[in-house]
Amino acid sequence: MIVVMRPTATQDEVDGVRRTVEEHGLEAFISVGEERTVIGVVGSDLESVAHLGTLDGVEQVIRISSPYKLASSEHQVERTRVRVNGVELGLGQELVVMAGPCAVESREQLMQTARAVKREGARVLRGGAFKPRTSPYAFQGLGLPALKLLHEAHDEYGLPVISEVVDPKDVPAFEEHIDVLQVGARNMANFVLLKAVGQSRRPVLLKRGLSATIEEWLLAAEYILSAGNPNVILCERGIRTFETATRNTLDLSAVPVLRSRTHLPIIVDPSHGTGHRALVAPMALAGAAVGADGLIIEVHPDPANARSDGDQSLGFEEFGALMDELRRLQFVRSADATPAPALAPAGQDGIGDIRDRIDDLDARLGEMVQERAALALEVQRRRETGAHGHDVRRERALLERAAAATSGPMTPVELTMVFDALLRASRSVQRRHAQSVTEAEAAATGSGR
Ligand code: PEP
Ligand code: MN
Repeated sequence: MIVVMRPTATQDEVDGVRRTVEEHGLEAFISVGEERTVIGVVGSDLESVAHLGTLDGVEQVIRISSPYKLASSEHQVERTRVRVNGVELGLGQELVVMAGPCAVESREQLMQTARAVKREGARVLRGGAFKPRTSPYAFQGLGLPALKLLHEAHDEYGLPVISEVVDPKDVPAFEEHIDVLQVGARNMANFVLLKAVGQSRRPVLLKRGLSATIEEWLLAAEYILSAGNPNVILCERGIRTFETATRNTLDLSAVPVLRSRTHLPIIVDPSHGTGHRALVAPMALAGAAVGADGLIIEVHPDPANARSDGDQSLGFEEFGALMDELRRLQFVRSADATPAPALAPAGQDGIGDIRDRIDDLDARLGEMVQERAALALEVQRRRETGAHGHDVRRERALLERAAAATSGPMTPVELTMVFDALLRASRSVQRRHAQSVTEAEAAATGSGR
């Protein structure tokens, strides 16, 4: 801490500051300049002299080190890894995806979702039991019965569970049923609650307050750490800005900023961060790309009829597609969505054999697709230059046949997607050829110069 004296400060006033500093067991280093005197203050408890700015002759007090200590990477260099029932979050660990409904609505809804998200590779199940809703008339959650359902889901599917606690007196019930206590955005500065979860033996996920700066957020984490709980995970979930196109503005720059200031794990919530289903996957990928240790995502069996946050909840298919994309980009590394090995019934091919056949088929498909494109190119070559490429009627007939297909496991929509992609690629090949011919002709006749 540096105390800057006014240019008019007297020797008595400088001595007054020094005396106060020393009375608090700290050291003062006085440096007398031409215009003014500055005093460096060092020691472990700088908070005890937070009032120095009010002493006579003092112009300003500048803090150099961060006001939070336990959360700071100055205080602890090595990164904290938080263990949640066998799942580890933190530097060097694989991206941990937490998923599940905004609110637990029924046993069936929760179990169905748990099964689906587990199959897709989620490692933690989320579900709100006590919902801090903006309106007192909105669904407030099932309360304690929902905690018991989450406990059941944990036992049934082996996924650790996370749920939001809103009242300090509920902490014991959460400890009985829940693996990670969530402190929601609206409660980030509820210091009584922060102290209560700080005394818990369960890890805490601390969401960023709607209008909290990163420093205020880290000070909230400091409350939990200083109450004795070292297992804090920070969650960026969007802040309120002037923008109305999204529910909140997901501040992804917070992730690298936090990396430089704290050793605590950081996760991103693209569901509350955007408020729109279509924006969840791109912002989840962006969160993974900026180095988040995990993601928390709302998933519902029937988003259109969800009792809360349906607009931002993914259906099972959409969640599966996002997990595929995370695997493709190697943010999630496990090769299988479901890690458990499948049993091959006696007398039948094992998974390895079937995959070999798929690899063969893919190789043949690759050759066939190229052969098809070569024929499309030949058609283009025999056309008059500049004539418009493809035969729309034949394409339409092909897509109609695909849309009416009933044999095989692919739905008509899926088969149509495949042919649609093939037709697009063929058209690009034809267009590229037509373009190169046109350019060659232009060069030969000297036009276009
Ligand atoms: C939630 O995760 O269900 C929730 C209410 O989030 P937030 O506190 O970020 O609004
Ligand atoms: Mn929600």
